[in-house]
Amino acid sequence: MKFGTKAIHAGVKPDESTGAIMTPIYQTSTYVQDGVGNHKGYQYSRTQNPTRHALEKNLAALENGKHGACFGSGLAAIDCVIKMLNPGDEVVSTNDLYGGTFRLFKTIFEKYGIKFHFVGMSDPSEVEAAVNKNTKLIWVETPTNPMINIIDIEAMAKISKSAGAMLCVDNTFATPYLQNPLDLGADIVMHSVTKYIGGHSDVVMGALICKDDAIADEMYRIQNSSGAVTAPMDSFLVLRGIKTLHLRVQRHCENAEKVARFLVSHPKVDKVYWPGLESHPNHAIAKRQMRGFGGMISFDLEGNSIEDAHTIVKNVKVFALAESLGGVESLIGHPATMTHAPIPKEEREKIGISDSLIRLSVGVEDVEDIIEDLSQALS
Ligand SMILES: *Cc1c(COP(=O)(O)O)cnc(C)c1O
Repeated sequence: MKFGTKAIHAGVKPDESTGAIMTPIYQTSTYVQDGVGNHKGYQYSRTQNPTRHALEKNLAALENGKHGACFGSGLAAIDCVIKMLNPGDEVVSTNDLYGGTFRLFKTIFEKYGIKFHFVGMSDPSEVEAAVNKNTKLIWVETPTNPMINIIDIEAMAKISKSAGAMLCVDNTFATPYLQNPLDLGADIVMHSVTKYIGGHSDVVMGALICKDDAIADEMYRIQNSSGAVTAPMDSFLVLRGIKTLHLRVQRHCENAEKVARFLVSHPKVDKVYWPGLESHPNHAIAKRQMRGFGGMISFDLEGNSIEDAHTIVKNVKVFALAESLGGVESLIGHPATMTHAPIPKEEREKIGISDSLIRLSVGVEDVEDIIEDLSQALS
């Protein structure tokens, strides 16, 4: 089955008792058993719930995987992957990682004896240099936030295989519609479902998808033992969101391309970061491993003034000034004073986050209105 058909049908079927076409919200904690050990596959909703189960099967299908697990947030999903490791194990990851992932690694898991290395992953030789006999996990995020760098997943899979380590890819920015890391050699795919998959800025949720049965056993054991599961109502909302994932992402990509080209030609704009531009340093890799270039764009301003950046994010009218991304509505943010404020200025500048850098999550409104809004704010 192709993607759009899977988005609408995979994992879901009309309710057998009523014929309801939509998966019911099974708002229940427990399930009556006919006799001891004689149940219908569900015993307790931390372990499994039918609404969540439908969503997990759907997500597994969208990522061409076999097993899916949903969590209370993207970070809870990442937490599950790191709990597969043991003290003394080492992880190699990228130096422009999502801030919450960095905080989880450094402030929670380092004290349990897991060691993390952060390198420039756009250059595979930096990853090779950081791998050693203790490396048990390579953690990739691509495209990255907010610099929209692209990491070569196949190259990372080669390195992880020869090191005997797992490869996990945070696929949040790309969505399963644009990129399928399992097909490129990854062992686990992670999503902040909060973003494009949910798509309507009304749910916080995370997911893991894998093919391997042994990894799946660990994933479900930790999901059930740690208990960071998602709710039936949220599972329902995400199942509904997914039915239009392919349509939304197509429009996000089309709109982002027009916005990126508008920004490139604007005299007040300095650099534009969007992997669909031929000038993007990783454009060739993006073209090879992605089916489209996504809805996230960053740009900075001629003169690099923080005041100019603040004026622009204040004067937009269609865009809303907010953290997060991937919803139907366009959002604008200023990483240096919002998402990436805790990072010291020098460190920020090393990875390209200038004072005037502005990040856009281009929504699915009419693109003429989006461009008109940016145009008036820039002038
Ligand atoms: C938002 C985000 C996360 C964290 O997900 P939550 O659902 O907010 O916990 C992880 N990775 C990326 C790339 C994100 O954008």
